[in-house]
Amino acid sequence: MSYLVNLKCSECGRSYDPHEVQTYCQDCQAPLLAEYDLHSARSRLDRDEFKSRPRGMWRWHELLPVYDEKDHATLGEGDTPLLPVRRLGDALGLSRLFVKEEGLNPTGSFKARGLSAAISKAKELGVKKVIIPTAGNAGGAMAAYAARSGIEACIYMPKDTPLANIEESRIVGADVILIDGLISDAAKLAGAKSREEGWYDVSTFKEPYRTEGKKIMGYELAEGLGWMLPDVIIYPTGGGTGLVGMWKAFAEMEAMGWLEDLKRPRMVAVQADGCAPVIKAFHDGAAACDYWADAHTIASGLRVPKSFADRLILHDLHTSGGTAVAVSDDDILKAQAQLAALEGIFAAPEGAATLAALYRLVKDGWVRPNESIVLFNTGTGLKYLK
Ligand SMILES: *Cc1c(COP(=O)(O)O)cnc(C)c1O
Ligand SMILES: [Zn+2]
Repeated sequence: MSYLVNLKCSECGRSYDPHEVQTYCQDCQAPLLAEYDLHSARSRLDRDEFKSRPRGMWRWHELLPVYDEKDHATLGEGDTPLLPVRRLGDALGLSRLFVKEEGLNPTGSFKARGLSAAISKAKELGVKKVIIPTAGNAGGAMAAYAARSGIEACIYMPKDTPLANIEESRIVGADVILIDGLISDAAKLAGAKSREEGWYDVSTFKEPYRTEGKKIMGYELAEGLGWMLPDVIIYPTGGGTGLVGMWKAFAEMEAMGWLEDLKRPRMVAVQADGCAPVIKAFHDGAAACDYWADAHTIASGLRVPKSFADRLILHDLHTSGGTAVAVSDDDILKAQAQLAALEGIFAAPEGAATLAALYRLVKDGWVRPNESIVLFNTGTGLKYLK
């Protein structure tokens, strides 16, 4: 059961029917966001009842986009631990530091959440074949959930994509096409195939539901902290699905009267020096990002030269009173080693980037010693072994 009632363009507000297959706004080429009947949800749902349900992302099904439970494609995603990291906190002089450990998700990254939601909805709407251009984890996750749903999968990847992403996609039956070029080239080829042969494109924000799966991270945070939100969330930003999704989740919880305190977290976007379009636009005070030429970084999930949701990301960062930080690949590797040595967490480079950024924020006095701070480790380091 779901309270989903509408899809709304994030730019012009035009409505789209969620009972039909949708992509993005045809008038402004902007993402569509899902709207729920939060008025009914507020009167009928009890926030404290969700705890007693079977674990996982789908225990929040009323606030996810799929109407019929039989279409839920699940592999056990969600309900990842919020780990207090005291040794790391001591090293930084912070008393309330946490890591949201998303590396425990199926396929080893939080992409599982978004693709579980998107593929389930696609299945419900009768979609038979899905396509994606990917720098790695999204392809693997899409392939796994497509297999689980009996949907055909096609993936375009640059040929230097980590081996784990190629193999995890192939073994579950996806057609993997390796190309000579960047993710932007992969996107062009996948887009053309999608138009010519009718494959449904589940690229970041070109369909409305991946961000819905990822927003559940926001619900889990609030529930885990006694319906309070942390002071600061530090998030490695590529396409921005998680950042935009969580900000949306906070608004939904507020509308349902679930939050004890209406103070929202300051959101921090982290990118790599070699691909930092959001950081540049944020500090320039721009409303949209410029395309970042020659994008390069070891954190493949952050190699996104221009997100389709750039305006939403920048809007949410500014509204939250947050900031944006770029870090070097060297600093990412140092942070990765430190997080592992002090806490036993083998983070993906993208996750480690949040710690590299935190060092900067502590040094600049942007965070205070007693604030509650959540770092997002978005994937396991194991997937990046050569
Ligand atoms: C895709 C990815 C990101 C970026 O996520 P967005 O929500 O699209 O910004 C970060 N970390 C990892 C490991 C990823 O795979
Ligand atoms: Zn529009």
